[in-house]
Amino acid sequence: MTAPDFAVASLQATSPGTPIDVFADRSTVPGGPGARLRWIRERARAFRAEFAATGTPDLVSTHPLTTLPYPTRFGLWRAPRTPAPFLVITNRMLIIRWHEPGGRRRTLLFEPSDIALGRNTPYFAALAAKAPGFLRRFVAVEYGTVPGHLAAAGIDPAEVDYLVFDHLHTQDVRRWIGITRPQADLSPDLPVEPLFPNAKLIAQRTELEAMADLHPLQKPWYQPDAYRDLRTDHVLAIDGDVLLGPGVALLSTPGHVLGNQTLVLNTGTGIWASSENAIAAECLVPRQSRIPGLSGWSRRWDQEVILNANTLESTADQYASLVLEKSIVDPSQSDARFPQFFPSSELTANLTSPGARPTFTHRAITHGHPKGLRS
Ligand SMILES: [Zn+2]
Repeated sequence: MTAPDFAVASLQATSPGTPIDVFADRSTVPGGPGARLRWIRERARAFRAEFAATGTPDLVSTHPLTTLPYPTRFGLWRAPRTPAPFLVITNRMLIIRWHEPGGRRRTLLFEPSDIALGRNTPYFAALAAKAPGFLRRFVAVEYGTVPGHLAAAGIDPAEVDYLVFDHLHTQDVRRWIGITRPQADLSPDLPVEPLFPNAKLIAQRTELEAMADLHPLQKPWYQPDAYRDLRTDHVLAIDGDVLLGPGVALLSTPGHVLGNQTLVLNTGTGIWASSENAIAAECLVPRQSRIPGLSGWSRRWDQEVILNANTLESTADQYASLVLEKSIVDPSQSDARFPQFFPSSELTANLTSPGARPTFTHRAITHGHPKGLRS
């Protein structure tokens, strides 16, 4: 595999929005991982107050993309008792809109996965080769595409300002932001024009750097070739935490991958966090879970969260990031036992995965006037 050509250091240094300082010293807290965890819990209170005071976006809407099989031992790590090798997760895209103080409207797409190109990810390709029938039954479940959902919502692709993923596993954004040279699999003769001519991909610099020279733990999940000829002026490399708009922030949450980030939203129901550090809200409160194994495992090992552990690049950091996410969000209004943590890949009940039926699912974040989509 060829590493991305672009020098990450040369990517635009100007960060969108405003840096957030509350957690900025996280990596330099004296002491070990236990001290960092305590520090994060204490800082979460300050973050909640500051963030809530920034206001709310105009609109948040949720659009399902696809359902996929995922190894049970990754998604629920060592906790579940089910012998079913795979559970099922659902990926969804969020559309978020807000107005800047000057009146300019911004549109952000969170998790706008190009499902067709995502299937080239080594992990999915290997699964397809091994069990094509299985793959067809599950991976082929597609509820809609990114362009289809936008058209239905009445949004012109030219209105989209930002594309954000919590991390870049499986993602291929060549058709979204364009490539500067022909590439054999997609466009053998011509560069690819971007579907989103004005959109910038926002990613943590640490993740882009990692993709340039992947570690074996990381390789099954990335498509580094897809990043080789991206238009670099359409990529914004950020370092750490940033407030993008009223009630819209990205927090660096290393764990699931080192360059992981969490979307944080303030809405009419309070604060939400979305990432793939866990695959179900109950993984942040496992004692409330009825999935066989989770509550007992949490008690036995005195652990308060259950990690989505497919690469375990940094286990203690991922635990701390999940505690951060759990500490900044509000409880669900439909069932206050569960936090408003919206897994970007959410555990979904399925007949083929007995013993991994979620106790509770969010399915959507909805905020503001759906009509706001068309205004
Ligand atoms: Zn991942």
